[in-house]
Amino acid sequence: MIELDGAQGEGGGQVLRSALTLAMITGTPFRIERIRAGRKKPGLLRQHLTAIEAAAAISHARVEGAAPGSQTLTFAPQTIRGGDYRFAIGTAGSCTLVLQTVLPALWFADAPSTLTVSGGTQNPAAPPADFLIRAWLPLMRRMGATAEIELLRHGFYPAGGGEVRASVAPSQLAPLELDTRGDFHTMRAEAIVAAVPSNVARRELEVVARAFSGVDTQIRDLPQREGPGNALLIEVAHQQVTEMFTGFGARGVSAETVANRVVQSMRGYLASGAAVGEHLADQLALPLALAGSGRFTTCTQSSHLATNLAVIERFLPVRSRVDAVADGWSVSIEARE
Ligand code: AMP
Repeated sequence: MIELDGAQGEGGGQVLRSALTLAMITGTPFRIERIRAGRKKPGLLRQHLTAIEAAAAISHARVEGAAPGSQTLTFAPQTIRGGDYRFAIGTAGSCTLVLQTVLPALWFADAPSTLTVSGGTQNPAAPPADFLIRAWLPLMRRMGATAEIELLRHGFYPAGGGEVRASVAPSQLAPLELDTRGDFHTMRAEAIVAAVPSNVARRELEVVARAFSGVDTQIRDLPQREGPGNALLIEVAHQQVTEMFTGFGARGVSAETVANRVVQSMRGYLASGAAVGEHLADQLALPLALAGSGRFTTCTQSSHLATNLAVIERFLPVRSRVDAVADGWSVSIEARE
């Protein structure tokens, strides 16, 4: 039984989610205490409870402590089974974080699966569905993973009501080495509005167009019933990797402010020359470790990345290191003898 401290690193939900994924795949039980101790509302929220429920259903796990607000959980998995799974968060909690917790386990199942999760698809502090589809998934495919992800309906915080679906087949993961991003291909920006005036999207895209000459811009005007919500996505495709930076409209924050924040994140990434940004970095660590080894450069070394690497080393026979390099940091994972 692996014992984990949920207060380590940034003390968020990542320790729990990574532990669920790794426990299912390695068949190792774990117990975690002080879950989300670093957050304003500590303990398990709906999104985490749904991730636990999903992981338990897929691996027939024995679970203790899965209750709202609980800060202790025991999870003992059995064999991972492929199948058609459907989970509902019931709030605007992030579907993509639930999906990302269980999807890797389905690569290790005995049969293909479909996985449908409803809740929020465009949440602050979580990967937007577009990010998973356009940035994360292509790298997973390059590693040999078979998966499709579809955004069926948008769900914005705080209304929720969105849905994502994944089709997954058992896969063998191969190591990935991503030292450079390669030559520039294209840059695209998309402003999404649902029950929000399209003038907001236009103003956001004007800021982006002023910052990056030649950027392709587009407004995605959604049906009223998928709102209210606004998100700005800026995507840059290089030869080796596509990155995406996102901002969300919020009451009392101007469209220009939302857009300027996203522009700043994109500028930081472009100036660094590293292969991936902060979020892709912490979401690549686990798949790379599952492949047995791998390497990438990143412009930002976040506490999420450090936490993930620490949890991974508890479950898998790998060793990771983070070295300062000219473009930021180089993260490497290798097999431990
Ligand atoms: P936690 O804060 O522990 O619940 O984890 C949040 C997760 O969402 C981390 O894996 C972050 O990398 C990811 N994340 C947060 N914001 C974004 C974003 N704008 N784009 C992509 N991933 C994100």
